[in-house]
Formats: sequence, C-alpha cells, structure tokens
Amino acid sequence: MTDPVRIAHLYAREMNIYGDHGNVLALAQRLRWRGYEAEVVEVNRGDALPDRLDLVVGGGGQDSGQDLVESDLLSRGTDLRAMADDGVPMLVVCGLYQLFGHAFRTSDGRVLRGVGVLDLETTAGSGRLIGNVVAHSGAFGDLIGYENHSGRTTLGTDAQPLARVGRGMGNNGTDHTEGARSRNVFGTYLHGALLPKNPALADHLIGLALERRHGAVQLRPLDDRVTEQARRVAAGRPR
Ligand code: GLN
Repeated sequence: MTDPVRIAHLYAREMNIYGDHGNVLALAQRLRWRGYEAEVVEVNRGDALPDRLDLVVGGGGQDSGQDLVESDLLSRGTDLRAMADDGVPMLVVCGLYQLFGHAFRTSDGRVLRGVGVLDLETTAGSGRLIGNVVAHSGAFGDLIGYENHSGRTTLGTDAQPLARVGRGMGNNGTDHTEGARSRNVFGTYLHGALLPKNPALADHLIGLALERRHGAVQLRPLDDRVTEQARRVAAGRPR
C-alpha cells in the first residue's frame, strides 16, 4: 500500500468562495475512484506545512480575507517557492492566485504583498469583472467557470497564460488571457468550482502529483458523462 496522496488546502476558512472547496473534493475523489488513497490537510494560519506534500490547493476570497492571510502566506514564501521549483503541482484561484503573484494593489490604495511563486502583478480596477467564463486552453480543452474580481492581473515573462478568453474577462479584460502557469503551478480567476467542471485539468494535476512519486502513470479514464452534460449547460449560459 502506498502512502496517501497528500493535498494541502490553504486557508479553507478565509479563502474559499463560490464553491472553491470543490477543487479539493474533485482531486481527492478522482484519486479514490482510481484506487489511490487521498488525504486532505487543511493548512490554516499558524499551522505547519506537512513535510511531504503532493498537491497544494487554494481558493479565492474577499480583499478582507486576503488581508487576514497575507502575513501568514508571506512566512511560507520560501517553502512554497522551493516546492514550486521542485515541481509540486499547485492550483490557486482568484484571491490566492493574486497573492501567489508579487503584489495586489487594492481599490483603497493598499498593497498586499504576494509570495512571488507566479510572475504576475495585480491592481484593482474601477469596476468588478463578474460573470460566466469560457476560456480556451490548448491542453485542457475549454475551461468553464465563473469570475468575480476587482483585480486586473498582468503576467510577467516567467508566467504563461493558462487559457485565452472566449467569453468573459479573465486576467484583466484587455489582453484576453486567463490565468497563469509556470512549472506545475496553475493560477486562475475561475471559480465554479473549477475542477469538478473541468476534469481534464483535475486529471492533469493528479497525473503530475503521481508522476513525481511513482514515475510515469497512465490514469484510468473515468465516466465523466454527467460532467460533460454540466459543461455543455454551463458553456451555454449567458454571461
Ligand atoms: N479580492 C479579490 C478581487 O476582488 C479576489 C476576489 C475573489 O477571490 N473572488 O480582485
């Protein structure tokens, strides 16, 4: 029996809106359906990071939630950057996506410092970018989700866009990019929850985690027919 696949869920209390917790559930359940044990470890403010981590997941939150976690997250910066360099797969959504970059300038003029795992910066704009999103990613098909953010994110040269916006605003509403990726770290504005609606990305993260431990793996396909139906409905919703 191998050790369980260990998923760290960052700040489940403060950074967890629009169903982002579903990302953790989707990863754990898709592992279990394939016969792997999955262990979810909540990492809240002040908690030690478990010594061996296979996946790191974090969600979105209000600016006030970001305020609460900023200093704790900064204290983990060295560890998180080392883990990212070591190829640990990570998914961060919206509020934590912003704080995984270099900085977030809020609409009231404060600067929340980020951990710089992703090469990007965010500045709040005058209006919020809200609505359903369809974004075209080459590798994972259309990413379907929901966005609600004031932040406009600009990628630096070390981050690649995760997808190109078809419907919606994405990173900033102007350059048509959505999300970012660098090494095995993925950031996005998409709630939904994202991974239950986008199983190709969920399985990519799972594959990366398993490969780091066991070498190349062939993931058994799952029956995603209900998910496919949900994706079709979601993709057809008005903005
Ligand atoms: N507070 C951030 C913003 O409005 C993030 C919002 C979110 O996580 N949905 O840009």
